[in-house]
Amino acid sequence: MSEQPPDIAGLRQSLDEVDSGIVRLIAQRHEVIAAIAKVKERGAAGIQDTERERRVLDSVEAVARDLGVSASLVRRIFRELISDSVAQQARHLTGDEGGYVRVAFQGAPHAYSHAAAQKYLAGRGLDGDLTGFRTFREAAGALLAGDADLAVLPIENTTAGSINEVYALLREHPLFIVGEETWKVDHCLAATSDVPLSSLSQILSHPQGLEQCAQFLQSLPQVAPTSYFDTAGAMQAVADSDDPRIGAIGSPEAAAAYGLVVLRRDIADAENNYTRFVVLSPAATAVDVRIPCKTSLILATRHEEGALLRCLEVLSGSGHSMTKLESRPRPGRPWEYVFFLDFEGNIADPRTAAAIDELRSAALYIKVLGSYPAKALRHRARPGGLPGPQDAESPAETLEAVAAEEPAPRRSRQYKLVSRAARQPGTVIRIGDTLIGGDGFVVMAGPCSVESGEQISATARFVRDHGAHVLRGGVFRPRTSPHSFQGLGWEGLDLLVAAGRETGLPVVTEVMAVDQVQRMAKAADIMQVGARNMQNFDLLRELGKVDRPVLLKRGLSSTIDEWLAAAEYVVAQGNQQVILCERGIRTFESATRNTLDLSAVVVVRERSHLPVVVDPSHGTGTARYVAPMAWAARAAGAHGLLIEVHPQPAEALPGAEQSLSFEDFAALMQRLATIPGAPAGSPQP
Ligand code: PEP
Ligand code: MN
Repeated sequence: MSEQPPDIAGLRQSLDEVDSGIVRLIAQRHEVIAAIAKVKERGAAGIQDTERERRVLDSVEAVARDLGVSASLVRRIFRELISDSVAQQARHLTGDEGGYVRVAFQGAPHAYSHAAAQKYLAGRGLDGDLTGFRTFREAAGALLAGDADLAVLPIENTTAGSINEVYALLREHPLFIVGEETWKVDHCLAATSDVPLSSLSQILSHPQGLEQCAQFLQSLPQVAPTSYFDTAGAMQAVADSDDPRIGAIGSPEAAAAYGLVVLRRDIADAENNYTRFVVLSPAATAVDVRIPCKTSLILATRHEEGALLRCLEVLSGSGHSMTKLESRPRPGRPWEYVFFLDFEGNIADPRTAAAIDELRSAALYIKVLGSYPAKALRHRARPGGLPGPQDAESPAETLEAVAAEEPAPRRSRQYKLVSRAARQPGTVIRIGDTLIGGDGFVVMAGPCSVESGEQISATARFVRDHGAHVLRGGVFRPRTSPHSFQGLGWEGLDLLVAAGRETGLPVVTEVMAVDQVQRMAKAADIMQVGARNMQNFDLLRELGKVDRPVLLKRGLSSTIDEWLAAAEYVVAQGNQQVILCERGIRTFESATRNTLDLSAVVVVRERSHLPVVVDPSHGTGTARYVAPMAWAARAAGAHGLLIEVHPQPAEALPGAEQSLSFEDFAALMQRLATIPGAPAGSPQP
């Protein structure tokens, strides 16, 4: 008896015909693109025309709507087609149609790096021999020894951040960047057979894989997460073990390649997880100026006031948009940094070459890592308008489309009021006689929490006498555990305000809930929004309605753009007095409590007119690291500091490890006075 309706075979055949028709149309499109590439070859115009791309997308979407097909599906397909035709034209211009290369990558076959390398080769019409190495260093070593022509190495991940070892390799060796590739990371859990998750006792993956699935792993308390050199290698090890109690985290493709069963898909904590790879070569290559390019360089700045800012001004002043700035320690030179910078431009273009020459004289050291075709082609959001009625997409679909559009948005539309473009001179906030923003530098200091009248007033006197401008002290405490000290509440606020009055210092304290805002605004001079509340939008809106400065801390895992969008919530309600506070973010680094992102200072100064201060206490979590980071923050152009100081640091509730003693604070302030801050008015993109 047939279980299928009799005509299914016929229907499938029709579907196959439609599908091959689609492929034939793509081939036809290719021919037309080739003809266009020939015409453009003679002109000087760039091969990417964003206006034209937008019109193409708009018109195919309109057709989709007319036909009752999902406009977002059609948009996604056409975006891929357009990217492909730009790549096709680029290949035509560079003449590198075809060819054979030896490529080194890190990991076992079917690792993410392997997939990215294959994608890169396919995009360039190249064939290759791909070899996996155990470490990044070994892959780079093969390139340097002449055993490979290219190496494809990951440089940053949208969840886990930058890969420092690859930056170190670029700094240490004569390696150049000739291309980039992006890959969407989709982690799955796989095992040798279809077992229940509860029967697993061990899960292997690369440390980054384990880190990116931390929440999922926490839901399996019986499992021991185990580091492995590579995700695909972990899959292979599980397959080799033939032990059904061991699982591995990696790509579904790797699971399939090693004959494993996928137990659960999409297990990463963050939904849109991308890795960007750089393609390295022992020599830089020249790219036709009509191809949209990025240029990367390493820069060490002079030991002069505002040196980094001056370098950035050279780029912005010559119309080059920066896409990434990363600071790394300068080896052997404590508290000096080298910067890795990416911007849109091509050294073959005289304008870019001139900017780099100017940079050379502004900087202490420059290595141009290369100009290479930009992979993440920016498709700017369309202006205004809501999606049409047929365009109803699920929120997940929308997120995906947005992510595909712009994995690392440069100029976000999520904020405009706080953006630099909205206001040229930076915002300066006045609290009594204290100015926050502009050329000033303010130090806010005091205990993590107000514990007693004596504690807060002794601290207030000491910090005032040693140059602090604002007194800090928490009274409502955002504690990770409900069993920890929760603060003295309103009574604590009275003690804080009294200590402030006695010493003439304005006070800053954290507001935790919407219903505290009005009452607290009457007593506190600055209201702090804690990292854990950065996206408490009701709280932000409420703070937007009062005439009180707000100190907005960066969320534990928030991007700079999310942080600025949170500030926009306050400003959009009318209260323009927002001070941003960088306090460290969560990364895979565990040597410090958080990773203090000092590059956020320069990025915020470029993207926004709001003042930005740095909290090295929470940023490092260790008292002896606080002063150096405070000095670095000032040098980077911060408008001030927020520092925890306690009369008996060992007894601080909480903050024992990170609070400075009076003596430490005095020493910090003494040296701080010798460090120049950012020059007046910089940067002015
Ligand atoms: C604090 O400033 O004491 C505090 C709790 O900070 P954060 O919200 O940055 O953790
Ligand atoms: Mn604290």
